Amino acid sequence: MENRAERKALSLYVHIPFCVRKCAYCDFLSAPASEKEKEHYVNILCGEIEREAVRYPGYRVETVFFGGGTPTVLKPDQLDKILCKLKSCFMMETAEGADGEPEITLECNPGTAAGEDLRKLRGMGFNRLSLGLQSARNEELRKLGRIHTWEEFLETWYSARKAGFRNINVDLMAALPGQRVESYVNSIERVVELSPEHISAYSLIIEEGTPFYERYGEADEQRKRYGEDREHLLPTEEEERAMYERTREILARGGYHRYEISNYARPGYECRHNITYWKRGDYLGFGLGAASLMKNCRFANAGVLTEYEGGLRREERQLSVQEQMEEFMFLGLRLTEGVTCGAFWDAFHVSIENIYGSVLKKLECQGLLAREGERIFLTGPGIDVSNMALAEFLL
Ligand code: SF4
Repeated sequence: MENRAERKALSLYVHIPFCVRKCAYCDFLSAPASEKEKEHYVNILCGEIEREAVRYPGYRVETVFFGGGTPTVLKPDQLDKILCKLKSCFMMETAEGADGEPEITLECNPGTAAGEDLRKLRGMGFNRLSLGLQSARNEELRKLGRIHTWEEFLETWYSARKAGFRNINVDLMAALPGQRVESYVNSIERVVELSPEHISAYSLIIEEGTPFYERYGEADEQRKRYGEDREHLLPTEEEERAMYERTREILARGGYHRYEISNYARPGYECRHNITYWKRGDYLGFGLGAASLMKNCRFANAGVLTEYEGGLRREERQLSVQEQMEEFMFLGLRLTEGVTCGAFWDAFHVSIENIYGSVLKKLECQGLLAREGERIFLTGPGIDVSNMALAEFLL
């Protein structure tokens, strides 16, 4: 058996495609299901883990992330069965060995896990909880079609702390229908008062094929339909910018540092699993539609249950060196620490200047990008227009 130092770090993602009911804005692979369907899925998933794990010897697992859907619609025993399967098929160990604990995150929606469930889950080894709050205002939660209220979130929050979860993320969303800067600020402030270790703050994206797209897909359409009824309209671009700005200010004051465009953490509580994605580490996804990146090959499971059961993969693609460079830049620059010239050289054996010299110069002149020694990173104004700035790195 190789020793720890010789094993490569790996992250695992497990997709649980079930929810109590569908939110009005959601285009994720998730749906309500019967108890029988859930049990069937857990069995298939465990079979997939066992079958695939043997193809990847020589790895040690540093992070695991159960996402969805809503993983906590499964019973604790079912989640335990999946986690035990992972533990029996992979070596779970960080680079620090016994001194370091793999990060094992469970996504949980308020109202889907009672105190006793959370105690069991903590005991099984889940050591990070990600709570999908989205808004602390009940009228906004209703419009989103969420199943919970702020009060139910609080119940889950206190139960989670009591169960021993010391690393909790809270998800918030900005730019919601009817939301104004003040109501958004109120949501953030209520969450900061609870002092979670991590806060993710994303803007609502209106996805095609969702009830929200029907209602808000076209800005002009929504105005025609609602006139100037601000109760229903999406915030303006200026309001959305102000929400971003206020997020940064309030969270900085609360002791959180922004380590990625939409993610803030107390020092030492950055999400290690998501950092693997942004740094393009190896990760394996299990479950319906789950995506993987292994040795620069991207692949994903089928998103249709019958095809997934048959072991079908949607697509398997070895990335070209050019694509790897593009990903290196536009994923790495999402992190506020940015990328380093040395890491680029190690990955591609060519200088970053040779490939991106003119783009770097242009963005630097525009004040969107800065350098500090080896480090290249987006500036504040660069983060504000990150989509545009990152698109410059397409070769
Ligand atoms: S809880 Fe999350 S995954 Fe489930 S329907 Fe709502 S947004 Fe989608």
